[in-house]
Amino acid sequence: MPNYVAGVGSTNPKLMLLGEAPGQQEDSFGIPFYPTAPTGEIVTSILSQLGLSRSEVYITNVVKFRPPMNDFEKLHLIGVDLTKSIQELWDNEIKILKPNCILAIGDRALQAVTGLSGILNYRGSILKANDGRTKVVPTIHPAALFSRKITDDDDGEYAGGLEWTYLKLIKADFARAIEESHSSDLNLPERDLTIAHNSLDLYRFLSSYDKLDKVCTDIESINCVPVCIGFAFNKYHAISVPLLRGIGNIALTDMGDNEITECWRLIDKTLKTKKLVGHNLKYDDYKLSLVGLDCANVYSDTLIKTRVIFPELPKKNLGTISSLWTREPFYKEEGKEFRLGKDKIDRLLLYNGKDCAVDYEVDEVQEIDLFAMQEQFGVPLVDYYYNYMMRKHKFYLRMENNGFAVDLARKKELFDRYTIMQAEVHKRLVDAIGDEVNVKSAPQVANLLYKIMKFKYMKKNPTSEETIVRILANHCKGGKTKYIPILTDLLEERRIRDQKSRYISFTPDFDGTCKTVFNISATETCRSSTGVLKAPLRPKKTKIGLSFHTISKHGRLAKDIRSMLICRPGKVMIQVDSSQAEARVVAVLSEDWELLKAFDEIDIHRRTAGLILGLCDKLYLNKDYSNPIIDAMGKDSPERFCGKKVRHAGNYDMKKGRLMTEFNTDAQKFEINMTVSEWKAGHMLELFHEASPNLRGVFHRDIKYALDSSRVLIDPFGGVRIFNGRLDEDLYKEGFANIPQRTVAHLVQGGALAIEDELNGDLEHIWLSENHDSLTMEVPENNWRPYAMLMKKHLEVPIDFNVYCTLKRDYKLVIPAEVEMSNTHYGKFEKVKL
Ligand code: URA
Repeated sequence: MPNYVAGVGSTNPKLMLLGEAPGQQEDSFGIPFYPTAPTGEIVTSILSQLGLSRSEVYITNVVKFRPPMNDFEKLHLIGVDLTKSIQELWDNEIKILKPNCILAIGDRALQAVTGLSGILNYRGSILKANDGRTKVVPTIHPAALFSRKITDDDDGEYAGGLEWTYLKLIKADFARAIEESHSSDLNLPERDLTIAHNSLDLYRFLSSYDKLDKVCTDIESINCVPVCIGFAFNKYHAISVPLLRGIGNIALTDMGDNEITECWRLIDKTLKTKKLVGHNLKYDDYKLSLVGLDCANVYSDTLIKTRVIFPELPKKNLGTISSLWTREPFYKEEGKEFRLGKDKIDRLLLYNGKDCAVDYEVDEVQEIDLFAMQEQFGVPLVDYYYNYMMRKHKFYLRMENNGFAVDLARKKELFDRYTIMQAEVHKRLVDAIGDEVNVKSAPQVANLLYKIMKFKYMKKNPTSEETIVRILANHCKGGKTKYIPILTDLLEERRIRDQKSRYISFTPDFDGTCKTVFNISATETCRSSTGVLKAPLRPKKTKIGLSFHTISKHGRLAKDIRSMLICRPGKVMIQVDSSQAEARVVAVLSEDWELLKAFDEIDIHRRTAGLILGLCDKLYLNKDYSNPIIDAMGKDSPERFCGKKVRHAGNYDMKKGRLMTEFNTDAQKFEINMTVSEWKAGHMLELFHEASPNLRGVFHRDIKYALDSSRVLIDPFGGVRIFNGRLDEDLYKEGFANIPQRTVAHLVQGGALAIEDELNGDLEHIWLSENHDSLTMEVPENNWRPYAMLMKKHLEVPIDFNVYCTLKRDYKLVIPAEVEMSNTHYGKFEKVKL
């Protein structure tokens, strides 16, 4: 039987810390959240950072005994009844000590005192405990930050564990609980939420704020159709207006047609004349445009603002954002769980209004943070946000509404061809194994790998592509060499099936084009990402278009997919590519001027390949050097591919295991006939680093120094990233990639905005895509040159590393932009000289 671990601390506490149950060390020492145990250390340290000692608060747990295997479900095995424990917690501790506030650490603690569940939603909220008196602020249990070891061996693999950034959220929750513990009063934000029952309600609301030019807006959709719109001119007061009389036979409002029409007129005027604030406004803007409403001045978007202020916030939904920038308790379930026809429609309308008022407040408080950061870091962050980040909104929205024209006959032809290809590979596989196998069935593949072929079991993603690639590289030796063709075919069939279902079988949009949806600043480095169009953008159960960024660039499959996306009649495609952009930025940051010059004179990847494959004794960067074997390497040869991969890995200090997996996976994908073992990958990295001493000696050293000393990196364009994560190798690696990626993202996205500005009003160009280091546009076939030149000009703007960049370099980098043109399809471009 484990030991009883009683609560400890003040007998007259204002704040009670309530954990779930003792852990191993708590059980041994009899003290909850034992100060040197992993979670106890975090709890104690946050308290002290916020100016409190353990003795000033009361610390206890819901259950006083360590559960068998730390599992609450196993409490009965030690004779502990959870309900009884909770009752005792109330009777013997909370009711006696009467804290003003309980900091509930973890979901079990939240449940015990409020009956609510869902810690990631409720964390940071100011709630009332079940006694209706005591305040509760829940937070994520710090144990959730730690990953669990999932393999038994020494070099074991780890899984789970929330990003360390959540620690920042946990700290914010502690701070809120401490603040709330100062008094027993519950003061939550008061918001006057109204519903427009007629046009006069809306008219009066809008008139009372006539002098204000900024309004927060939001729509709610049902089955893809916008049903109401909300407005708030401040954080206290919002209105929601039904946009329709009803859906089917369910009424949304009592208003008649005339009243609704008048409301639409007022809404239209508001959207056209006010500066609009919102959360993920690209969605609202798009939906409203479909019903003829024009969001003319999209001014501030809290989704994007959060990216600027707190790039690494793991969740950027309004629920999480409002928990950090307002005191509004979690309320998003009010809208999410709305059931049409079952719940009163007012619930949805009030929720809509609340979103507007809360988001107005978020925007207001974030604006203060924006100015504060501008001051603190000496960068023009306000301009960066309004004149760069926010301007992307309209650009991407317009681009994603264009899409590619589609060759449907080609699509059908490819589908049939891939069906035959799949059947052939499948037959080969079945013949080799002597039995039927479904290559997409995890149990069947596991059976094949670990029971039939008897490979050592891999616990982490045992049947994933990465794992099979690893097995191929590291474990197909001796008697197991015979399995190489089987594993290769297994991967090949999977890939063909994926290509067929994910890419070739895509559904064109209702206008016949192939579209994508852009997430404007998807990553912490402000790169965009793409996805297919699904609910609520398109009707439920429909997935439309493709994720443009995941269409591969190399290999036969890539060419096939791209061949379905064709030029519109009378148009050609122009693609402008910022050449080796990230690698050049790395060269500047490494102060490797010889390398930088070499980018313009030689093929660096061939030379890198020459070195790491032992064809020459050093990394020859001068143009006069020649070596017949190195010079003859083909553009898509395995050797050159090898050079490229190792350079990329070395730039960001990738380790040999990761390089091996990435190398082999990509080689398979791009049909490059080469695999490397982990040892070989390590050896190549060693040779590469030996020949490129500035990488670690200057670039990595300087990034590490910046992270160690300030945890801040600023890119040459003034974008700021604060690193809140645990200061370890992974954080450094993120740091190495940060400035190069942010710089190139800004160069290309900012370039697109500048091109668009210069094309102001031109009706001939059609933007197709932005792919990290390239831009694609469709333009008239008889007049494509000016567009190509314009695109080139704006991608070749000098990047000054001496103004804002954390790693100051007295250098203005111009990255050459290569221009390609296609008069057929997206898979067949040819270089053009301008
Ligand atoms: N986890 C808890 O919930 N409580 C403790 O006391 C220690 C770890």
